[in-house]
Amino acid sequence: MKFIILIGPPGAGKGTQAKLLEQSLGLPQVSTGDLFRYNLKNETELGKLARTYMDKGELVPDAVTVAMVKDRLASADAAGGAILDGFPRTQAQADALDQLLEQLGGRITVVPNLVVDREELVQRLLARAQIEGRADDTEDTIRTRMRVYEEQTKPLLDYYQQRGLVVNVDGLQSREAVQQALRRVIEQAA
Ligand code: AMP
Repeated sequence: MKFIILIGPPGAGKGTQAKLLEQSLGLPQVSTGDLFRYNLKNETELGKLARTYMDKGELVPDAVTVAMVKDRLASADAAGGAILDGFPRTQAQADALDQLLEQLGGRITVVPNLVVDREELVQRLLARAQIEGRADDTEDTIRTRMRVYEEQTKPLLDYYQQRGLVVNVDGLQSREAVQQALRRVIEQAA
């Protein structure tokens, strides 16, 4: 069981790249953002709870998020592992993932870090807001999501760096170039 953790700030292109990687790697993309949005759309209890955090650009509590990921990784299509997109986002989530992978007999092969400068990110997120109409792509929530990333998620880079798992990938290149770079990084780590 192999797990790839795509890390990077909101708007860096994790979702787009993870979807492209799915086919070439034969591993499913597991995006906690997409899972929450699915629940939101279907008005499940989980969705209603998640909405209160998502609308503000804040993180859904760890226990809720971890339970959802556990459930998702128990599916047959994740038997060989997964491309994790948007998870883990806190140290508590990273610890829970380590525990879960120990139980499942899985390992993290590499943590590609998509590097994109801040100004470019805000522009991308505002553009996405117009195209996709995502409720959490307003200027206020974008600012909150950036801050949350800096404070809670960025420290995970140190955590995975200590284990020699982080490889930086320039996210400012074209979509195709980023995809190629990611494939190289993942192949080398396999
Ligand atoms: P994303 O599509 O990854 O940008 O996620 C959209 C929103 O879903 C985030 O702003 C959070 O409110 C919530 N979310 C997604 N992933 C997580 C996570 N790992 N932990 C907590 N909240 C999350």
